[in-house]
Amino acid sequence: MAQTTPNHTQTVSGWAAHDTSGKITPYIFKRRENGVNDVTIEILYCGICHTDLHQVRNDWGITMYPIVPGHEITGLITKVGSNVKGFKVGDKVGVGCLAASCLDCEFCNSSQENYCDQVQFTYNGIFWDGSITYGGYSKMLVADHRYVVHIPENLAMDAAAPLLCAGITVFCPMKDNNLVGGAMGKKVGIVGLGGLGHVAVKFAKAFGHHVTVISTSPSKQNEAKARLGADDFIVSTDDQQMQQARRSLDFILDTVSANHSLGPILQLLKVNGTLVFVGAPEKPIELPSFPLIFGKRVVKGSMIGGMRETQEMMDICGKHNITCDIEVIRPDNINEAMDRLVRNDVRYRFVIDIAGNSSN
Ligand code: NAP
Ligand code: ZN
Repeated sequence: MAQTTPNHTQTVSGWAAHDTSGKITPYIFKRRENGVNDVTIEILYCGICHTDLHQVRNDWGITMYPIVPGHEITGLITKVGSNVKGFKVGDKVGVGCLAASCLDCEFCNSSQENYCDQVQFTYNGIFWDGSITYGGYSKMLVADHRYVVHIPENLAMDAAAPLLCAGITVFCPMKDNNLVGGAMGKKVGIVGLGGLGHVAVKFAKAFGHHVTVISTSPSKQNEAKARLGADDFIVSTDDQQMQQARRSLDFILDTVSANHSLGPILQLLKVNGTLVFVGAPEKPIELPSFPLIFGKRVVKGSMIGGMRETQEMMDICGKHNITCDIEVIRPDNINEAMDRLVRNDVRYRFVIDIAGNSSN
């Protein structure tokens, strides 16, 4: 059902899924008027995050159909509200996962809005006015400016788009564990070389660490080393390789979207090492106690990041010229791209050319 919230007067074309088949079709819907704190954004590009796939298929049982996915959005500001500071018409900006939070709790007050108890997301969320949020698989977005970041001039708008979710999601746990601007030369493992994982490799290298990719795909080895700069590559299904790397890593970031056991991965950590889990498989992950207790190891989770850190990450990407390795697609090809994402056939992020600016 299309929304009928009173201030939602702007007609927008986008792409939505209507049931658990996850099939995406063109969809016309309404967005709110640009409020005093809002900016209106002409969307240029939107990345396809694995979360979009989980959500359109209702993997997590929380999807409100029709769903317009997309939370890796880059575009140009076309309108600013009267209370908006720091943004003007024509600015290159990005919007990630966050659409609203309470603005008043300890987390909002310390720019960890992502952990606000009332956080609402860019799609499949419920905004302050009661409307269901629709994401970036659409031509235009109205966003509260407190959840918008600037994109550095030197970054390409298509290849920067996935930084808004994949980038910040892997940046925060690295920062949290003193791997950004702290000690260098740590032994860092990245599990799963997909959208999140490939950015994590680039970040960890840019921050001066020794990076080991732990992957189920031997075919990714050459690229991981030659293009992304990984130092080592372990095929996680090869017991011998896993045994040889026991107790070798200080920190592991697990980005895997599917169910798997953390046991063999934990064995790769040194005593006292930390594993941060950011993947979101629909079923509980297997966490055997022996590799935990025998190595006094820590397992933590992490969800995207706050707005201050999102801007910080963007600026660091600008400084180091870090963007994502992408395959740009037309909106007509979203379903095909999602099918390929299911089959782990993407190097390393699909980005939808919403405005039709790319040549392919
Ligand atoms: P993606 O591009 O599909 O990458 C996931 C990678 O996991 C694949 O490239 C593959 O790497 C590995 N993998 C896939 N199936 C596997 C299996 N059966 N067993 C072992 N490894 C497998 O996905 P993504 O966009 O990076 O997202 C990854 C996960 O993070 C999703 O669950 C997503 O919802 C979640 N996520 C969480 C947050 C957060 O805030 N915590 C934010 C964004 C996304 P190899 O080929 O190298 O094995
Ligand atoms: Zn995402």
